[in-house]
Amino acid sequence: MSRSPWASDDVEALRELATSFFTHEALPREEEFAAQGFPSKDMWQAAGKVGLLCASIPEEYGGGGGSFAHEVAVIEAQIRVGAGAMAIIVHAGIVAHYINAYATEEQKRRWLPRMASGDLVGAIAMTEPGTGSDLQSIKTKAVRDGDEYVISGAKTFITNGHTAGLIVIAAKTDTTQGAHGVSLLVAEVGGGDGDGDSNGDGDTPGFQRGRVLNKVGQHSTDTAELFFDGLRVPAENLLGGVEGQGFVQLMVQLPQERLLVAAAGMAMLEAAVDHTVAYTKQREAFGKPLFKLQNTRFELAECATIARVARVFFDDCVLKHLDGGLDATTASMAKYWITDRQTEVIDRCVQLHGGYGYMLEYPIARLFVDGRVQRIYGGANEIMKELIARSL
Ligand SMILES: Cc1cc2nc3c(=O)[nH]c(=O)nc-3n(C[C@H](O)[C@H](O)[C@H](O)COP(=O)(O)OP(=O)(O)OC[C@H]3O[C@@H](n4cnc5c(N)ncnc54)[C@H](O)[C@@H]3O)c2cc1C
Repeated sequence: MSRSPWASDDVEALRELATSFFTHEALPREEEFAAQGFPSKDMWQAAGKVGLLCASIPEEYGGGGGSFAHEVAVIEAQIRVGAGAMAIIVHAGIVAHYINAYATEEQKRRWLPRMASGDLVGAIAMTEPGTGSDLQSIKTKAVRDGDEYVISGAKTFITNGHTAGLIVIAAKTDTTQGAHGVSLLVAEVGGGDGDGDSNGDGDTPGFQRGRVLNKVGQHSTDTAELFFDGLRVPAENLLGGVEGQGFVQLMVQLPQERLLVAAAGMAMLEAAVDHTVAYTKQREAFGKPLFKLQNTRFELAECATIARVARVFFDDCVLKHLDGGLDATTASMAKYWITDRQTEVIDRCVQLHGGYGYMLEYPIARLFVDGRVQRIYGGANEIMKELIARSL
């Protein structure tokens, strides 16, 4: 694979470090994490120790001081290795950036260094049992009571939901309004992984985690329900300090989130082609490698071409984002188009593997089950098309 135009020497050095870490430290523990349904806290801390968390958060807050390119290099390395238990995209690529952009100076100094070290895992809770795509219809509410907000409601499908100690919650501060009534509040909560460390074990009154959800794929990553029944957070935990700004804040951050999902899709797409080329070159049928069959060759030629075209588009989006010029429409195009191509190519590659492509010990099978949700979360691809169409 040739180097992307946004990948400087230090980005490549970080990629190398990340590849080595995920290969030697994280991959051997994937089965353990899949069995328990979440990555252990010490894994987050180990990743923090070598500098893989919050790569694009300023150094003064404990981050790596890098750019979005550094964040992408870590994500790509993680997916290429196949050690996806820690949802670093959510923790570092999304939650840390909400804190960095909207929290107070004191909060940034309190939370970000612990996120960078892996002592405090981040989650963002928007989706509810009754509403996902239609975010302005959320029912969770936050009512001001003196110096605090009191939060009530339920969230579901929350990535890092079992392990998170810091949760950005989308809630209505004005239930008479739609989008204008949504605010983002940060809750520091205890419990979760139950290992008695700085996640702050012990009950947080008014807060309960539901079960770790039994997903089709991504078995080693925790996705959970969260319940709020009078959870109190200090009033200063309202991000941005003004009620009703949640939707605006989401809109500002969403291009980066969508590009991160596209980054994961890009890495899965390329990994699928590489794994399948290697597999079909060593597996024989009718006296010759599968790769010598014309259908296999044509399929892989097409898949490799799709991967190349997607890479050019993706790299262009990254360059634009690094310049601050990635618009919401283009980010939506990247999220929808790359994840559609990703699942299409992975499916074709499963076929070329035959029965082995359906066995989870083969990387292509894991890409198949882990990757399907990419078209659903981060805004379903149909929502992306709606957003694109609005710009036409
Ligand atoms: C593994 C996983 C991890 C997740 N992580 C998080 C997380 O960390 N935080 C969080 O807040 N949420 C998270 N989600 C939730 C995810 O973002 C939602 O599932 C997604 O936004 C879709 O919402 P929904 O499931 O309620 O589907 P619905 O909104 O009910 O939509 C169902 C389907 O209807 C179609 N549809 C909906 N609206 C339209 C429209 N306007 N036009 C055309 N078609 C439409 C789409 O095909 C869509 O897939 C996660 C989900 C999963 C599965």
